[in-house]
Amino acid sequence: MDDAPLWQRAEFLVHRPDCAQASSDRLLTDREALEMLADPEVAGSCDVCRPDTILRQLR
Ligand SMILES: [Zn+2]
Repeated sequence: MDDAPLWQRAEFLVHRPDCAQASSDRLLTDREALEMLADPEVAGSCDVCRPDTILRQLR
């Protein structure tokens, strides 16, 4: 059984620009991150910087 949350199976993790886990070649703007997080099959939120929590306040 694969009971992992859907976002953990996504191939892309969204980070805040200041996240220590973010790779420098994959930084997104807030708008790009929001668009990716809108589809959990495309991208998930980093457990460290939690971009989904912050970006939701920008809507
Ligand atoms: Zn992160």
